[in-house]
Amino acid sequence: MAQFGTVFCDNIAIVHYKDGSWQQPALEPLAPLSMHPAAHVLHYASTCFEGFKAYRWDDGKARIFRLHDHIARMQRSAESLCLPIPDADLLATMVLDLVARQIDDIPAPPSSLYLRPTLIGTLENIGAAAAATTEATLFVLASPVGDYFGDGAQSLKLLVDDQRARTTEQLGSTKTGGNYAAALGPTLAAKARYGADQVLFCPNGDVQETGAANFLLINDFEVITKPLDTSFLHGMTRDSILKLAADLGYSVNERNFTVDELLHFASSHEAALSGTAACLSPVGCLVYNGEEIMVRDGKPGPNTQRLRSALQDVQYGIAPDSHGWLTEV
Ligand SMILES: *Cc1c(COP(=O)(O)O)cnc(C)c1O
Repeated sequence: MAQFGTVFCDNIAIVHYKDGSWQQPALEPLAPLSMHPAAHVLHYASTCFEGFKAYRWDDGKARIFRLHDHIARMQRSAESLCLPIPDADLLATMVLDLVARQIDDIPAPPSSLYLRPTLIGTLENIGAAAAATTEATLFVLASPVGDYFGDGAQSLKLLVDDQRARTTEQLGSTKTGGNYAAALGPTLAAKARYGADQVLFCPNGDVQETGAANFLLINDFEVITKPLDTSFLHGMTRDSILKLAADLGYSVNERNFTVDELLHFASSHEAALSGTAACLSPVGCLVYNGEEIMVRDGKPGPNTQRLRSALQDVQYGIAPDSHGWLTEV
């Protein structure tokens, strides 16, 4: 299958906000958006997005994973950026209508339909740097995606940066474009210099996350990850893995830890990145102060594999959805 994010369904769901309210949503053929060059988003980055998946089961129906939690997160992102907050029922209806329309485009598991709601400020005013956009457009893109691990899970190499933050604390838990722009330079530099796949941002030694995924440590008994605060993105995959880990008898240890502790854990614990696109990806190597530190034997570990399968089994309809995470379409 083509590269993640490069193939799109024929339609988008779209709605505009003006005069203080959301207008009537519509399904429209996918086409370029027309926008005034003074649009608020182009100058002042008033934008946020979501990313989640729908799976097509053997019964021919689709199941959307944690739809309402993703919508709630988008509302929080919008609020933090002073964008008009999408109405939850409106956005849910847009997603459901789009998935129903494109249901025949959803490939069977482990492939899926990736959904990308996006909100942009469209007020035509380049003098509005210090003003909220009073007009906005919300659209949902749909993209069929293949299995991230086509040829089995590859272990990732992370550069451990104990100085820089991924973004500001103010926007750490907001899914907004500028955060990825901020992480891009360091990530490309780490790739060029060390062949690293991602940077693990650990400002002042506090282990936070990478450019677009949360970070977890796992052994036979426990899962360790940073507790929720405003410095990082509250991943739905992270939350789901923690809940399934607890179901399976792991102790779930949400606590802050330092780079020094991380380097100790590397001999006893598996390390993994979590996110919607790649689910749970094993980390095999850490680069710190120019030195490579193997995570255990550097190979994907059994607990990472077990937890990833536990989550995928729910998504694919192999295991029961005991947490009520799936919305049927
Ligand atoms: C989207 C994202 C994640 C993962 O969130 P999921 O809900 O698990 O997909 C983690 N970190 C960042 C910075 C993200 O943008």
